[in-house]
Amino acid sequence: MPSDPVPQPCEVCGVETVHRCSACVEAGISLFFCGKDHQKLVWPAHKTVCGPGKAHPFAVMPLTDDEATWIEHHLDDTDLEPGVTIRKQIARTSNSRQPAEMIVQDIVSGAYEQSELPDKLMLVHWLRGSLGDRDVLGRHVASARRLEECGARGYDALTGAQQCAIVFIGVAAVLGRAGLRHLAMRDATWISLLQHKALLTNRLVQLLAIGCDKDAELRGLVAAARIRLFEWAATGAGSGDPRIERALTEYYEQRGRAGEL
Ligand SMILES: [Zn+2]
Ligand SMILES: [Zn+2]
Repeated sequence: MPSDPVPQPCEVCGVETVHRCSACVEAGISLFFCGKDHQKLVWPAHKTVCGPGKAHPFAVMPLTDDEATWIEHHLDDTDLEPGVTIRKQIARTSNSRQPAEMIVQDIVSGAYEQSELPDKLMLVHWLRGSLGDRDVLGRHVASARRLEECGARGYDALTGAQQCAIVFIGVAAVLGRAGLRHLAMRDATWISLLQHKALLTNRLVQLLAIGCDKDAELRGLVAAARIRLFEWAATGAGSGDPRIERALTEYYEQRGRAGEL
């Protein structure tokens, strides 16, 4: 990790540090980690969008042929929700009447950027989450009952990357209502940073979901990370633009009221 002269809070614990993810620095954005431990903690989420070609402008790699083949063989498996097959989830997410097989083929080629086809982008995130992180998701399913026992809000089965798409779509909608849709440009650094931070925070929330909030230290870490994300967004997410500041404040207040932060 290269050094930076201006210390910033670690993305995980908030302790000021000069260490950044070197691959993301190459891509033109700074994500700070106090050390290897905290970088590793969020790596399963971060690796999907780390480094040149992915980190900034924020982009998601298309499904590979192998991934598509796996999905096609498991279309009728039940995934996270009882009774909901991958086929049904594809229909739900894509809002399409096309057969699932055709939709999967349709999303095998082409790089997916946040500015186009939000449904397709979310579908790629979701499908990859279904296969790439299967062990983790399996544990989520197993812990769903425990989550209910703990009184936690139902785990929504979103992968962190989906969360990023949702953040982008939500922020774009808020900017759109304010007549500022043109500010949500995919090559804007603040948009990429916002999505990375949302992704990392979501990863921490996932860890909490798996651990069923028994780990007091992790619980504190997640709560503080959410507050930092909110505060950072409310000051314009580094955009230096008061219009973005107002729009982001509105967005996060809405989400806060809905209990989604
Ligand atoms: Zn840290
Ligand atoms: Zn990185």
